[in-house]
Amino acid sequence: MQFLDTRNGPSVSLHQAIACGLAPSGGLYVPAALPVLNMADAEQAETLAEVAEFALAPFFAGDLLAPHLTEICREALRIDTPLKALSVENSYVLELFHGPTAAFKDFGARFLAACLARLSAEHAVPQETTILVATSGDTGAAVAAAFHQHDNVRVVVLHPVGRVSARQAHQLGCFGDNIHSLQVAGSFDDCQRLVKFALNDDELRTQLTLSSANSISLGRLLPQMSYYAWAALTHQRRAGNSLNVVIPTGNLGNALAAVMARRMGFPVGNIVFATNANAVLERFFAGDQYQPQTSVATLANAMDVGAPSNFERLRWWYEDDLELQNAFHAQAVSDAEIERIIRLGESHYGQVWCPHTATAVNVLEQIRAQSGDTDADWAVVATAHPAKFETIVEPLIGRALPVPEALAAMLERPAQHLTMTADEAAFKQYLMQQSYRAVG
Ligand SMILES: *Cc1c(COP(=O)(O)O)cnc(C)c1O
Repeated sequence: MQFLDTRNGPSVSLHQAIACGLAPSGGLYVPAALPVLNMADAEQAETLAEVAEFALAPFFAGDLLAPHLTEICREALRIDTPLKALSVENSYVLELFHGPTAAFKDFGARFLAACLARLSAEHAVPQETTILVATSGDTGAAVAAAFHQHDNVRVVVLHPVGRVSARQAHQLGCFGDNIHSLQVAGSFDDCQRLVKFALNDDELRTQLTLSSANSISLGRLLPQMSYYAWAALTHQRRAGNSLNVVIPTGNLGNALAAVMARRMGFPVGNIVFATNANAVLERFFAGDQYQPQTSVATLANAMDVGAPSNFERLRWWYEDDLELQNAFHAQAVSDAEIERIIRLGESHYGQVWCPHTATAVNVLEQIRAQSGDTDADWAVVATAHPAKFETIVEPLIGRALPVPEALAAMLERPAQHLTMTADEAAFKQYLMQQSYRAVG
């Protein structure tokens, strides 16, 4: 399959789209088509890796990565994705935080790393690549974990200083080796701007092979379809119904994957976007013009996004804004509501929620209240483990949370960061000076 550029640049093959992240025009790559699959053909697919292979095969067809798809899925997607019933009727949680860095970003980051490792082995990408990642918290750690000690790759992670949790910051700085952590005096949007600037800078591009691992990267977006496909198929097999989902949303990468899975025929029902107080999507889906904003800091920091980078992709699939607005609903949730939901989590649902997941829980409560509908099956998507945000969650629930094993191991290592202003020239100079450091 070919991949088109949302800004009408030349189309490319899958591995080219995966290797370069952002299109040279500044546009995003989208699959030329979303084939509708026959679900009867998915009967044999049981595990996440098997469903992923079924869902992703059409995109890999004809590409030099195609012969590696089975192995890539097995290697990267060996992460549990339990779909658990909650103590409220017909309500479920899809837990996406059982990977090494305890957030859903692990799926995409590991898949991207597995693809790039094959491309490097096939000499289909330059032998020395610098991957730039702007992170509002979880992406950076997932990418760092996925690429740590990979040959011929260095990773530069930018995070807004003071805007990520202490444990998130520690995770970013604890790898060392080929992973470089920059703390930027600015917002997440500043970090994202610096990365976009570098990727588009002609001089940098002649000197370094730059790539991105943000949620604009197709190598992260595609595998995220797999857990929606798996959950929807699994739920249909168990309960006979399609599964409606509420997705905590920032840059729209996770939610866009659900949209794509549904368009390909997987039994996903309604898809609702839950955001924090950054209400750009709520206003758009209520009928306003799309109006990006400066982000505000909230308790759900990984969703502090004022200009969702995948919006351009979502728009691509629809004739016009009206058709898009009719297809989805988005709802913004205040910090006060996030706190209330976390406080009541154990008594109402038998769960401790992270602040991001709490936005989805709140939106599901509103959906149930407004429609009076208790029959439809809804899942909230749990995007991170609550122990990553212990300074928010523990005071609200009044007890300490056990830390998942992999996270605990990272917290025991020392962490190091370099501090930088949100300045394009300074960032460019840093990238030019940083000697490439291969890991033996
Ligand atoms: C990244 C992230 C989100 C938002 O996902 P997008 O793909 O950017 O919409 C939500 N929750 C957590 C915990 C995250 O790390």
